[in-house]
Amino acid sequence: MEIFGQNVFTQDVMRERLPKAVYKNLKKTIDEGLPLDPSIADVVATAMKEWAVERGATHFTHWFQPMTGVTAEKHDSFITPTDNGIVMDFSGKELVKGEPDASSFPSGGLRVTFEARGYTAWDCTSPAFLKEEADVITLCIPTAFCSYTGEALDKKTPLLRSMEALSTQAVRILRLFGNQTATRVTSTVGPEQEYFLVDKSYFLDRLDLIMTGRTLFGAMPPKGQELEDHYFGSIKERVVSYMKEVNTELWKLGVTAKTQHNEVAPGQFEIAPIFETTNIATDHNQLVMDVLKRVAIRHDMICLMHEKPFAGVNGSGKHNNWSMSSNDGQNLLDPGHTPHENAQFLTFLMATIKAVDEYAGLLRVSCANAGNDHRLGANEAPPAIISVFLGEQLSDILEQIEKGAAKSSKSGTAMRIGVTTLPDLPKDSTDRNRTSPFAFTGNRFEFRMVGSSFSIAGPNVIINTIIADALKQFADKLEGSKNFSADLEKLLQDTAKKHKRIIFNGNNYSDEWVKEAKKRGLLNIPNTPEALKELVKKEAVELFLTHKVFTETEIHSRYEIMVEQYVKTINIEALTMIDMAKHSIMPAATSFATEVAQSISAVAAVSSKIDVSAQKELLEELSTNLSSMNKNVKALEKVLDNAMNISEVDKQAAAFREKVFAKMLELRADGDALEKIISADYWPLPTYAEMLFNL
Ligand code: ADP
Ligand code: MG
Repeated sequence: MEIFGQNVFTQDVMRERLPKAVYKNLKKTIDEGLPLDPSIADVVATAMKEWAVERGATHFTHWFQPMTGVTAEKHDSFITPTDNGIVMDFSGKELVKGEPDASSFPSGGLRVTFEARGYTAWDCTSPAFLKEEADVITLCIPTAFCSYTGEALDKKTPLLRSMEALSTQAVRILRLFGNQTATRVTSTVGPEQEYFLVDKSYFLDRLDLIMTGRTLFGAMPPKGQELEDHYFGSIKERVVSYMKEVNTELWKLGVTAKTQHNEVAPGQFEIAPIFETTNIATDHNQLVMDVLKRVAIRHDMICLMHEKPFAGVNGSGKHNNWSMSSNDGQNLLDPGHTPHENAQFLTFLMATIKAVDEYAGLLRVSCANAGNDHRLGANEAPPAIISVFLGEQLSDILEQIEKGAAKSSKSGTAMRIGVTTLPDLPKDSTDRNRTSPFAFTGNRFEFRMVGSSFSIAGPNVIINTIIADALKQFADKLEGSKNFSADLEKLLQDTAKKHKRIIFNGNNYSDEWVKEAKKRGLLNIPNTPEALKELVKKEAVELFLTHKVFTETEIHSRYEIMVEQYVKTINIEALTMIDMAKHSIMPAATSFATEVAQSISAVAAVSSKIDVSAQKELLEELSTNLSSMNKNVKALEKVLDNAMNISEVDKQAAAFREKVFAKMLELRADGDALEKIISADYWPLPTYAEMLFNL
C-alpha cells in the first residue's frame, strides 16, 4: 500500500539515505538494542532532518513517555539563526540528547526541583516518524527519559531493560536445548484497544466527562446492553468514516491497525494492530490512542479511553497478547511438531506459569488505577484474581507431567519430555475462555486485565521481568546438569506440582471461583491502594534489582507516583460530583419540585375533589432524594477534607478508597434516583440513552 509507513523514517529509508558503513553500524545498533554510536549521530541526524524537511517538517521533538502514562513532547524548531540568515539545523547532539525542562513531570522524588532537567536520548530501536497536526508537521523522535544521575524518569527505559533481562535468560534456556544460532529473544505484543465514542455536544454538556473521562452520575437507559445485537445491525456512517480516517492516519505512521466493530457495549469499539516487538508495540499503542482521540474531534465526537465511562455498561480494556520470539525465527510459545520442539515449548510454558503464580501480585499492580478498579474486582470482567487458562488438552498434559513418566496417565501413555509428541493443540478462538485474566491462546498468552487508558509499558515490564526470573531459576538449575532430559523432566514435574494451583479453566466470574481461589491461597486484591503495596514488597524489590530493571529508588518513586495519581483522581472526581450536585442536579430538582408543588395547589384551587396523590407522592419522593443528596454532599465534603489532611501517602490513599469513594457511591445513588423521576425538560445532563445510542 502506497501510504503505509510514508511518515516513518524506516530502515528502508535509512538504507537509501545513509552511507553504507553508517547504515551498517546503525542497523547493528538497532538489532542488538545498543545505544547509538556518537560517531555516526551527526550523519544520521542530517539524513533524518533532510528526509523530514522534504516532507514539510518545521519542528522536531523528543517524544517520550513520562510516568503519567501518556506521551509528552517538547517541540523545537529546526530553524537556527546565523550571521547569514536562517538555516535548518539539527545535529547529532540534538538527536542523542534533548533536554526537556522536565520539572513538571512526576518523578516521585527522583529529581528535586533545583535540578529539574532530565535528558532524553533516541531509542533507535523505535523509528522516528512525522506527526501531522493541523498545518504543522513535526519530526518525532522516540526517546528514553532519564535524570542526570541516570535514573529512569519514564516508562520506556525500564521496558527496554526488562526486554534485555528476558533476552538474557531466554537465550540461556535456548542454549540448553542445543540452539547456538539465536543471540536475542524479544517479547512481542499485540494490544487490542477498546474505546467509546460519544457525540461532542453531549460531552461538552457533562462536566464529569470533561473533568474525569467518566460519568459520575447517570441512570441506566431502559434499553440495556441486551439489545446490542439488534442495535448493531450496521455501524453508523459517521463511525465508518471515522474508522476509515483512523486507519489511514495510522497506516501513514506505519501502524498496522485495523479498526473493528466491537459488539460488547453500545458506543464501544475496538482496534487491533498486528503484533510487534514490545517496545515498538508500546510506542505504537500510544500513537493509536492519540490518533483515535484526535480524529474523533474532526468528526465532532470524543473518544473516551477511560476504563469505565458508563456505570452498568461494559468497560474498556486492552488485551495484551504476549509472546517471545528468538532472532532465529522461533515463537517460543508455539508448541511445534517434534518432541524436541515440544520439550522446549513446555519449558517456556512452565516458566510462564511459574512466573504468574509467584508474582501474581505484581501482575495485579501493573493494572491498578482508579479507573480500572471499576473493572477488576468490581462486578465486571476480568476478576482481580489472577489465574492462567490453558485449555483442556494442555491441562491434561500438565497433569501427566505432574504425575511423572513413571505412572500412567489418563490417556494410558505417559508423557515423556523430549520423547512424546504433543497432540496438535487447538488454535480455534471459539475454544477460548473469555473470562480468564491470563489465557493461553495457541501460541501466545492474552493478558486481559490491562485498562484501556494504560500505557502497555508497565504491564509488559512486569511480564518480561517475572518470566525472565522464572527462566533464570530454570537455567541456574539445568546448566550444570549431567543428564539434561531427566533433570528437565524432574524440574517440569516439580514446577507443575508447585504451581498448578494457578491454572483455572472454568468461569472466572462465578462466585464459586472466588471461594475456590481463596482455598487455593490465590491473591484477590480488590482495589488500587491495596494492590500498590505489592510493588514495594521485599520480593518485588529483589526481583527488580536482580534483573536490573528498576533501582530501589526508581521503584519507590513509581510507588509514590501511583499512590499520588490515585488520590488525585478520586479527589477530582469527588470535587466534580459535588459541583454537579450543587450547581446542576439539586437546582434542577428544586425547580421541578416547585413546579409540582405549584401544580398541586393549582389543581386544589379548581376542585378539592380531584385526586392529587400522584403529584404529592412525586413531590415527596423528590424531596426525600433531594434531602438525601444534600446530606451526602455535606458528608462527602467532610470526608474529602479529612482525607486531604492525611500526610502519610498510603493512609491517605486508603482513606480515599474507604471513605471518599464510598461516599461518592451514595451521592451517585441520590442523583440517579432523581434522574429517574425528574421531568426530561428539567434534567440538566445528557442521559445515558442519548450518549450511548445517539452517535
Ligand atoms: P482474537 O481477535 O481472536 O483475540 P487475533 O488474531 O485478532 O485474535 O489476535 C489478537 C492479537 O494478538 C493481534 O494483535 C495479533 O497480532 C496478536 N498476536 C498474534 N500472534 C502474536 C504473538 N506471537 N505475539 C504477540 N501477539 C500476537
Ligand atoms: Mg483477543
